[in-house]
Amino acid sequence: LTVRVRPLTCTETRRGDQQVVHSLGDGAVHVSAARHDATFGFSAVFDAGASQEAVFEGSGMRQLVEMAIDGFSCTVFAFGQTGSGKTYTLMGPLAQSETQPASPALLGLMQRSFTCLLEQSRSRGSDLALSASYLEIYNEQVRDLLSPGPPCALPLRWSKTRGFYVENQLSVEFESLEAIVSLLLQGSQRRRTSAHALNRHSSRSHALLTIHIRSRTVSAHPAPGESWGASACPGKQGTLCFVDLAGSERVKETGSSGELSVEANSINRSLLALGKSWGTRHGSPAGPHRSPVTSFVAPPPAGHCISLLAKPRGKRTHIPYRDSKLTRLLARSLGGSGITLMVACISPSSRCLSETLSTLHYASRARRVTSRP
Ligand code: ADP
Ligand code: MG
Repeated sequence: LTVRVRPLTCTETRRGDQQVVHSLGDGAVHVSAARHDATFGFSAVFDAGASQEAVFEGSGMRQLVEMAIDGFSCTVFAFGQTGSGKTYTLMGPLAQSETQPASPALLGLMQRSFTCLLEQSRSRGSDLALSASYLEIYNEQVRDLLSPGPPCALPLRWSKTRGFYVENQLSVEFESLEAIVSLLLQGSQRRRTSAHALNRHSSRSHALLTIHIRSRTVSAHPAPGESWGASACPGKQGTLCFVDLAGSERVKETGSSGELSVEANSINRSLLALGKSWGTRHGSPAGPHRSPVTSFVAPPPAGHCISLLAKPRGKRTHIPYRDSKLTRLLARSLGGSGITLMVACISPSSRCLSETLSTLHYASRARRVTSRP
């Protein structure tokens, strides 16, 4: 679990917002304002000065890419209120146009992961087959962001072999960085286009980009995952999923009616369901079935912020995956052999104080909290 505090924006500085969030080093974040004074502990905290590269290297993202190649289901979540820097962290500032791409230094976790993945693929003699799918969940409807034509809702199904999956979802193969980046832009463009039609669309929908990684050849050497048998990689099919969650802000009771309250409800349902599955995991005793994934990663690799949510086998029924489409789609990464990196994004501004606190509390469910009154 990682926290990223974005810098104050020009607008915030201009109107004189106070910076109420400070990183104290060693993973501690301090929130101080008139009636609040709290310190939270996380595995890593990136403050306003942290570069995109520092976040990639320091969050454990590189290790996550490597584990996805080794056949694990890996997921990165960015969450936090609208405007807290989720999309920036994942994708960087979106290019103004195709002809004027964003500066390489500002590329987000996604592009950096693709580069890392393709480098690995090349160094392994291209024995990895890569494909991508890009979905959004809006009002509990799943839409394909890659298929051409007007967006239509796709049904979510379940099968014994595949778990939850989206029917007729497009999965596009790619072999180069240009190809996957263009898929990403294409999908985000579709998301933005509907944002014009439907006000505040993008901040009210979850976007999931999944990279499917399949080994074409069976490796002669047992990969790190293989000794754990069923938990890891039958046939080595890993996934790397990037989730840009809808803004976590509470919709005020006043002014939220009709369509908006439906949206608010489904967002809350998704976030709540996620919180519940984390809570369940976290609260379960470490019995004899301690997750093999946990024993592999602890002591954690350099980044030490991969939050492991692996669940002892046989206890899965307690996880309320069915509560929302989002959790159902993520069931595989949240359970079994899943490895998750959460990036809580927060704004340092005094105006965002209550949302910042709620994001930090939410994030702390998987972590130790120290609070000073
Ligand atoms: P969200 O996706 O959470 O709604 P965005 O990623 O769109 O928020 O960020 C909101 C604004 O803040 C954007 O203009 C973005 O460029 C800027 N921003 C976010 N994080 C950073 C950062 N770490 N450094 C500089 N600007 C940032
Ligand atoms: Mg966004």
